Amino acid sequence: MKTWSEIVEVQPLASRIITNSIKKDRISHAYLLQGDRGTGKEEMAILIAKVLFCEKLNGIDPCQECSNCKRIDSHNHPDVHWIEPDGKSIKKEQVEKLQKEFTYSGLESNRKVYIIKDADTLTVNASNRILKFLEEPSRQTTAIMLTENSQSIIPTIRSRCQVIDLKPLNPLFFKKQLVDNGIEAQLAVLLSTLTNNLQEAMDWSQEEWFAEARKLMVQLIEILTTSPIDGYLFIHSHLIPHLKDRNDQEKGLDLLLLAFKDILYYQIGNEKKFVFFDPTNALLEKAAMTYSGEQLIDILNAILQAKRKLKQNVQPTLVFEQLTLQMQR
Ligand SMILES: [Zn+2]
Repeated sequence: MKTWSEIVEVQPLASRIITNSIKKDRISHAYLLQGDRGTGKEEMAILIAKVLFCEKLNGIDPCQECSNCKRIDSHNHPDVHWIEPDGKSIKKEQVEKLQKEFTYSGLESNRKVYIIKDADTLTVNASNRILKFLEEPSRQTTAIMLTENSQSIIPTIRSRCQVIDLKPLNPLFFKKQLVDNGIEAQLAVLLSTLTNNLQEAMDWSQEEWFAEARKLMVQLIEILTTSPIDGYLFIHSHLIPHLKDRNDQEKGLDLLLLAFKDILYYQIGNEKKFVFFDPTNALLEKAAMTYSGEQLIDILNAILQAKRKLKQNVQPTLVFEQLTLQMQR
């Protein structure tokens, strides 16, 4: 997704809002692009930056070939800065260091663009620093903040940004793309639920890590339905060691959530909705017999809560321990 006409296909409303402001030459000082993984946040941020810097802009579309476009693509443009969490949050010092660079380095223009990933991890001090910078009238600064977790954005940031909602992509359309790329149908359904990014889905389909994570979730459910008391041991010996960082942990919880959703669908006879399990898998029946509908809904809630706790930086081992206890009931 490198041009507006490509992005329009997947994010019609968001693209229209932004392209209209470009046409009227009223690009906002600060955008907050909120949407799930793979909904095109980064692609959109890159495109906005290119519109601001391209040397051969064709209407609203950047040329993709000039040195500015190319340097933005390779994250090498001196006036386009990417900020991501250093550890678990984006700290004031990171922002200050960057602003110092802006002041002293060989500036190419007075225009600056910040692209801030995981903007929900900005500390209050860091966000105040950014907001102050945005408000200096002598500068042409644009901040593009990206988040999957819009609820955690500090209100002062939200109120100063133009908020753009990115919608989940049409999973059917995406699934077809995956199958066309040689991915087996059941796996394509699972991948299209986890991401809307074709490259990412293709990578995951070949990753040892991903296949192993799926297997571990099946084993965990197997244990919970046969000998729940061993669940605790299993997460310590197998699951937690496999989920090495927050990304892994979140992906793991997503897989578990989808697996339990399938069990609920099995119970209510809605097999068309299966995402995680092959419909012939005997574990589905076993698990559907083990848990009541109410218990399954409690488990789904517990998994969602575990996801929230990870976002709030609760110690992952603790999150998985608590979740396992809740699933043992
Ligand atoms: Zn260009």
